[in-house]
Amino acid sequence: MARYCEASCRLCRREGVKLFLKGARCTGEKCAIEKRNYAPGMHGQKRGKLSDYGIQLREKQKAKRIYGLIEVQFKNFFHKAERQKGVTGTNLLVLLERRLDNVVYRMGFASSRKQARQLVRHAGFLLNGRKINIPSYLVKTGDVIAVEEKSRELVCILDAIKNMREQAIPKWVEVSFDHKTGTITALPTREDIDLPVKEQQIVELYSK
Ligand code: SF4
Repeated sequence: MARYCEASCRLCRREGVKLFLKGARCTGEKCAIEKRNYAPGMHGQKRGKLSDYGIQLREKQKAKRIYGLIEVQFKNFFHKAERQKGVTGTNLLVLLERRLDNVVYRMGFASSRKQARQLVRHAGFLLNGRKINIPSYLVKTGDVIAVEEKSRELVCILDAIKNMREQAIPKWVEVSFDHKTGTITALPTREDIDLPVKEQQIVELYSK
């Protein structure tokens, strides 16, 4: 566990921005980016200017790491975005944002996407009244997500709810913390996705 915690912060330091991978710690003074805002490793403080390819790669890595995906999963999302009508970069971010693990995190039922994924995998949530354990499920308008009966008193869920700031809940979901349920009222748009990612760079990287 300790090894994983260290690795998460190294990812943020590598990208030079907070990726919010560790819940409450990310907003506290123990955040590694606050203390050492340079890339990890022996030459971390000496890195020079990035090439165009380097910039594109970093944007892709950032998005991949924020959503906690491996390369093959991320690329599958990209291909799916390409096949949709509209702007591929925007489609990509919207698809990623619609993942069930991300939605559980956005609703405030988990303190990080990683924790949300684990809770979903362990069937800690119901989707429209039925158990679901697929973190990559893409939510649709009208879907209702509820904390499963046996998971309602889990400390990690109660803590996440306690630390959730009302204003951080995106406007495309409606959440009732009393009933521990959330509803997708609309699909997210690019404006709703407040991430430090330049998606056009990712499109250019994969278009080579
Ligand atoms: Fe670590 Fe800070 Fe990144 Fe959170 S935001 S994972 S605490 S470096």
